[in-house]
Amino acid sequence: MSIVSKLITPLHFTLNPPNCSPKYPFSSFKPLTVQCGKRTKRTGKQRYPSEKRKLKLKTSDPLSVETKLDGFWRLSKLQVSVSDDPGKDFLGLCDALLQEIAKVIKFPVASMLPPEAFTVIRKSFDARKMQKEPTFVYTVEMDVSKLLRLEPRTWDFICELEPRTGLIDHMPYERVSGDLIGIINDSRNASEATDSVGSGNHSFPGGLHKVPTAEKPKVAVVGSGPSGLFAALVLAEFGADVTMMERGQAVEQRGRDIGALIVRRILQLDSNFCFGEGGAGTWSDGKLVTRIGRNSRSVQAVMKTLVRFGAPDSILVDGKPHLGTDRLIPLLRNFRQHLQELGVSIRFGTRVDDLLVENERVVGVNVSDSRESLLLDNQNLKYDAVVLAVGHSARDIYQMLLTHEVDIVPKDFSVGLRVEHPQELINSIQYSELSDEVLKGRGKVPVADYKIVDYVDGNNSSVTTKRSCYSFCMCPGGQVVLTSTKPSELCVNGMSFSRRSSKWANSALVVTVSAEDFSSLNFQGPLAGVDFQRELEQRAALLGGGNFVVPVQTVPDFLEKKLSASTLPSSSYRLGVKAANLHELFPSHITEALQHSILKFDQELPGFISNNALLHGVETRTSSPVQIPRNVETYECTSLKGLYPVGEGAGYAGGIVSAAVDGMFAGFALAKSLGLYQGSMESVLGKSQNAGVANY
Ligand SMILES: Cc1cc2nc3c(=O)[nH]c(=O)nc-3n(C[C@H](O)[C@H](O)[C@H](O)COP(=O)(O)OP(=O)(O)OC[C@H]3O[C@@H](n4cnc5c(N)ncnc54)[C@H](O)[C@@H]3O)c2cc1C
Repeated sequence: MSIVSKLITPLHFTLNPPNCSPKYPFSSFKPLTVQCGKRTKRTGKQRYPSEKRKLKLKTSDPLSVETKLDGFWRLSKLQVSVSDDPGKDFLGLCDALLQEIAKVIKFPVASMLPPEAFTVIRKSFDARKMQKEPTFVYTVEMDVSKLLRLEPRTWDFICELEPRTGLIDHMPYERVSGDLIGIINDSRNASEATDSVGSGNHSFPGGLHKVPTAEKPKVAVVGSGPSGLFAALVLAEFGADVTMMERGQAVEQRGRDIGALIVRRILQLDSNFCFGEGGAGTWSDGKLVTRIGRNSRSVQAVMKTLVRFGAPDSILVDGKPHLGTDRLIPLLRNFRQHLQELGVSIRFGTRVDDLLVENERVVGVNVSDSRESLLLDNQNLKYDAVVLAVGHSARDIYQMLLTHEVDIVPKDFSVGLRVEHPQELINSIQYSELSDEVLKGRGKVPVADYKIVDYVDGNNSSVTTKRSCYSFCMCPGGQVVLTSTKPSELCVNGMSFSRRSSKWANSALVVTVSAEDFSSLNFQGPLAGVDFQRELEQRAALLGGGNFVVPVQTVPDFLEKKLSASTLPSSSYRLGVKAANLHELFPSHITEALQHSILKFDQELPGFISNNALLHGVETRTSSPVQIPRNVETYECTSLKGLYPVGEGAGYAGGIVSAAVDGMFAGFALAKSLGLYQGSMESVLGKSQNAGVANY
């Protein structure tokens, strides 16, 4: 069952064809039930960490006055109206926020509160229609000793303060966690303190800890996406001799290759929107939202590491942090430089074609120069362990793993279309008159986005049609891009720059698919999902007519199954679009699920069905179609020793942050197996979270 469906309790109503929408008759319509999401009460292990904390607080004893006057108070859900707030880019304390704080602690004169005693932990923008008015919503941390020092008259008010779960929470100490490099240094220092003298390990000035060269275990990290980068960072910091191999090019050359694709239609098979330094997320919107727990220690460690390498501090505070391609590129350069300083050898343009296996154990890799098509120069390189961080588009790697009898399990994922609207339309749907404040990303309020989910339960005799349909990877102020890795296959995704200033808003509209869907097209076996993706991508390439031209249809025409007229609305996609019947791409039950969800989405976002809304085909690479089983403690592949499958391609992540977190955990686990780290991973990073099918 998908995560989305787990989290919602169905509230049934049936769409009967005649009443449903006379405007959009469906020829092969079967009664279909649409279920609205409604939150259920989670119990036991299903509870989110924040809910567990709240429960613990509820059952704990009342706070003593001494406790109240010590430590920190966290004040949440403080609302400031847009007119009183300096705007989305201001992350300090404005007067209106101090007034809100004063109200909560019942202190009569807001202007007497010293701003230095407060820190903004989170700032989000809430423009939901159920609100009286759109507001900025803050979480603020109050340092009691600083407050009492700077304004002793607050003493009485703090004594009177009572915790209110989720609104006013007392914390005995500040929750400070460092970036990954700091965490590793700390844990190494701690273990060194307990190490006996003469263990053979040496500490170097600056905290770097190096195992003598002769003893360094050799690790190959295949792939330089977020999971590979973070695995390499951890292993190198612990003293392993790491080589990172990347079939694609460094960001500088990759940028030129992407330019040639957009301008001259030249697709480099190994250097494109999916392959190259930084992985699939480099030419992306760089959304750093994740469903694996924003405040968890592991996610915080990743976010702070990104800040160390050049991301703005605002990603730690912003409710919906994102970087944009322009900020990702310099960040990756800094990341690369740090790895090289640690001694990591980075080989761009180096594709791993095979694994070297001896006695049922991986002992190295066979590589070739990815710019050479003849494979004349391939080499065998020996390693003690291989981290496989190849992402979900390395289909050749899945095929190669099968030749070594590695277990690969098909996994549910999602397919659909990318919808694009004029950004101004989305701004006005979401913000009404406040949309004037967007100013192409330079205004007070964020460029508007949306997130819509529907649960569809249709009756189809051959295929179970219970599935989630949802928007995903929304790129406000962005553009639709080509994520094909072969000219015969066509698929799209979205990216944007940090300002999100383009005139379009795009988002995937996808439905979950599973083994039943794959077998409806006669695809069986471990790579059935990959074959299903490829089939849809080949159909899209044919519908577009080749040359990377994307087949498109307006949303109303898709609902009516009719070809869009010759005047199509403009598209941000740079390689050309062609009107086509997009329902020809999918089995009919998928088209119907998409159609019915679009009707539902229009109820939530009136205006979503618009002649200016253009659907682009096809969105297939939403997450990995397979999972490679591995040991939960050691992260080692269960069917082949010495292999460490990580990140999205291995089926353990779905987005930049979750992939980075997975790579980080795998790095610690492997460092432990190699004898480079003796501590407890959980005490340093918290519990590992298996992102599985979760997208972002
Ligand atoms: C256009 C686009 C936009 C996206 N936007 C976002 C977003 O805004 N936010 C978000 O969270 N996620 C986004 N994603 C998804 C995100 O990029 C991925 O979830 C994430 O990058 C997965 O990380 P990974 O390390 O597991 O794999 P990848 O990032 O895919 O990295 C795998 C790397 O391995 C290399 N490789 C593959 N095979 C080989 C081989 N045989 N030899 C050597 N190297 C190899 C590849 O070249 C690639 O660089 C986007 C994806 C795309 C395509």
